[in-house]
Amino acid sequence: MATTIYDVVIVGTGATGGMAAKVLAEHGLQTLLLESGPSISSADFLTHSMPYEFPFRGSGSPSKARRVGRAAASERTPFVGYHAENDQHPYSFPEGNPWAWSHSRILGGRTLHWGRQSLRLAEYDFKGASIDGQGVDWPFTYSDLEPYYDKVEEYIGVQGMYEGLPQIPDGKFFPPFAFNCYEHLMKKAAHKMGWHLTALRTAQLSRAHRGRPACHYCGSCGSGCDIGAFFSTIAVTLPDALATGNLKLQTDSVVRHVLIDKEGRPKGVGYHDRLTKNYREVFAKVVVLAGSTLESTRIMLNSTSPRYPNGLANSSGVLGHYLTDHISVGNISGALPDLVGGTILNEDGKSNGSYIPRFQNIDKPHPDFVRGYGIMVKGGASSFPGQAMSFDGFGAAYKRKIKALHPAMVNVYARGEPLPVYGSYIEIDRNLVDHWGIPSLHIHYKRTDNDEKIRKHAYESMLELMHTAKLEILSARDTLSTPGTINHEMGTARMGHDPKTNVLDAYNQAHDAKNLFVVDASCWPSSGCQNPTLTMLAIAWRASDYLAEQYRKGEL
Ligand SMILES: Cc1cc2nc3c(=O)[nH]c(=O)nc-3n(C[C@H](O)[C@H](O)[C@H](O)COP(=O)(O)OP(=O)(O)OC[C@H]3O[C@@H](n4cnc5c(N)ncnc54)[C@H](O)[C@@H]3O)c2cc1C
Ligand code: SF4
Repeated sequence: MATTIYDVVIVGTGATGGMAAKVLAEHGLQTLLLESGPSISSADFLTHSMPYEFPFRGSGSPSKARRVGRAAASERTPFVGYHAENDQHPYSFPEGNPWAWSHSRILGGRTLHWGRQSLRLAEYDFKGASIDGQGVDWPFTYSDLEPYYDKVEEYIGVQGMYEGLPQIPDGKFFPPFAFNCYEHLMKKAAHKMGWHLTALRTAQLSRAHRGRPACHYCGSCGSGCDIGAFFSTIAVTLPDALATGNLKLQTDSVVRHVLIDKEGRPKGVGYHDRLTKNYREVFAKVVVLAGSTLESTRIMLNSTSPRYPNGLANSSGVLGHYLTDHISVGNISGALPDLVGGTILNEDGKSNGSYIPRFQNIDKPHPDFVRGYGIMVKGGASSFPGQAMSFDGFGAAYKRKIKALHPAMVNVYARGEPLPVYGSYIEIDRNLVDHWGIPSLHIHYKRTDNDEKIRKHAYESMLELMHTAKLEILSARDTLSTPGTINHEMGTARMGHDPKTNVLDAYNQAHDAKNLFVVDASCWPSSGCQNPTLTMLAIAWRASDYLAEQYRKGEL
């Protein structure tokens, strides 16, 4: 039987792989989409189940949670066992310097349960080095990406308020979700301090759109949305890609490496069947990696050959370097006095809160640190009164206090920009393999002094905000997140014009191999402090348009 040679093979069905599949299939390219995990459909979702319907309230037995990780042990998600079990996906880090890696090995990847917060990067995020001398600029500007931000927002549906702020450029928004009481009060406090507070922009439908219904505020987004009201690959990009008739989807295919021909050109990928572990190969004229930052770079590092002894497309030696994950600073919670003892409403539904965009290093440089942070503001009565854990008590008086505080709770934390440094990098751990025998990663991560200065400033600002709002503070932590925890990994296959110092060019094409594209956040030269997925989707769309054009011209 003749071997099939696809136009393109894409690895990964998360945010970026799903977008690449839609764009390339719509351009008419015969596309094979490989996914390491199993298939899933919205019929499998448990969106409307309650914790009491499960043993251990759905959180999995403590022994299972210890063995495979808390998320993987959970029974309340349809992703049971695929929220990347630790024992199938081992990795290592230097002692005392941890990296927390959670990924979702399932059709749709992390889009099944992501937080949906969708903010654009600003012009100066792409030009950080020109402004403060740290790191490198991106090889394109905001105006190059702007048309793709527009297209992505219109296509996936992002609700938000128009603010006219340069640090979070406005976009093509759906009507915003209304503010809750606590947000009106926190907005007043933020204004007193000279800051803005806006509704968190989210990829969650405030009205019906392209056959998808509007959000009905059930508040169960963490368990996946069975009606497809928030953006996910399986609700949005995959159906459109399949509708073209140009896409073949193949799940349960764990990609090991990229195959290279005698001339050093990628010619397909080798993979293991997830269930039998059998090894197989598929062939394509172009290879697109979208397995998420760490996985795509791991595949490249594992793709060695005489032409690429240190990993595919690594003639610069920077493959694996400049890893970052956003900084999360602290957590302060308290009660707004005006709302204590008020009526308890069901306020779970909006499932996201408000945002105070970065206000540092905008008009003038801060004397202590470069870049900056934004503050997340969340609150309202949720189904579980988390505040009960913040104070001691017993019996009826304790219960009365919990109820009185329930409608008044506010919680703030900051998300900051880490500086990418050469010394934060991943490499293959020669002594560790995963469930399929594929060499795993050793992850080195370095916090910088700048991170520490951002932590201090952000914590003090949040305390000031809480005092201005006259909140009774119930708990306050000023810690920095363990790297990796925020799930915003970026860098390791940096893009830039110079092949000597970058892995990819400005269109996500490998400098060393024209028919290799890497479209996830491994290409990011710096990270901004805004949630990254909207930008990742815009970049994946732009790169895929470029790929299709090059393919049509016979350049690939
Ligand atoms: C709880 C949570 C909340 C989040 N909230 C937000 C938010 O509010 N805003 C935001 O911007 N971002 C958020 N994120 C981050 C967001 O989910 C990611 O940025 C985004 O999903 C990354 O897309 P991706 O395509 O790179 O990878 P993923 O979505 O992780 O998908 C990667 C896919 O590739 C597959 N894969 C990996 N390795 C292989 C292999 N070897 N062979 C075949 N397939 C492979 C995986 O199985 C997976 O399906 C959140 C993440 C989590 C976990
Ligand atoms: S709150 Fe809205 S987006 Fe979230 S699961 Fe419910 S319907 Fe879906």
